[in-house]
Amino acid sequence: MTPRQTQRKTQRPKWSMFPLMHDNVSRLLNANGLHFTFHNLDDDVSCIQTYDTSIMGRFSCHNQRCRSGGWTSMKIAITIRMYEGKQYNARVYYQRCKACNLLSKPILDDSYAERVAYRLKKWCGVELEPPEFSGQSKGPHEKDFCEGCKAGHCSEGRRIDKLVNVPRREEGVFQGVEVSWE
Ligand SMILES: [Zn+2]
Ligand SMILES: [Zn+2]
Repeated sequence: MTPRQTQRKTQRPKWSMFPLMHDNVSRLLNANGLHFTFHNLDDDVSCIQTYDTSIMGRFSCHNQRCRSGGWTSMKIAITIRMYEGKQYNARVYYQRCKACNLLSKPILDDSYAERVAYRLKKWCGVELEPPEFSGQSKGPHEKDFCEGCKAGHCSEGRRIDKLVNVPRREEGVFQGVEVSWE
């Protein structure tokens, strides 16, 4: 898998963008005099900046036969990207239900807009207090259920990989390579 992959229409989506959240992002940017438009094309190639981080939200399982009551995640993988002409977008990765493995699209909270705006401000050179984001995860990050991990875009997955004693390799070699940890 490479970071350049795109989603095929015939497959179930494994991530999506949330253009409806743009107003919330805008409001935070406007406070610093910044004005961005949402780049509707989910395009990895033409962006001038890209950053993988995580946000918070909750998921429900839409499999009627599944008994899962849904779950919350403190570590939903997100890739924030900036394009020429003050445009941006963000790809939010789905997670799988641990009970039945069905893909689920998250319902996001305010952390989406906060983090996207924070990153865009940084890229624009706005001086910022270090963020206070991110609740602590209750359990270990389950890479098998995280589409961000599978796409090679999960900051939490990478953080954990560094904690686990894997043989050290160059960062560049690691990226986009599927590695089995077992
Ligand atoms: Zn389920
Ligand atoms: Zn992950």
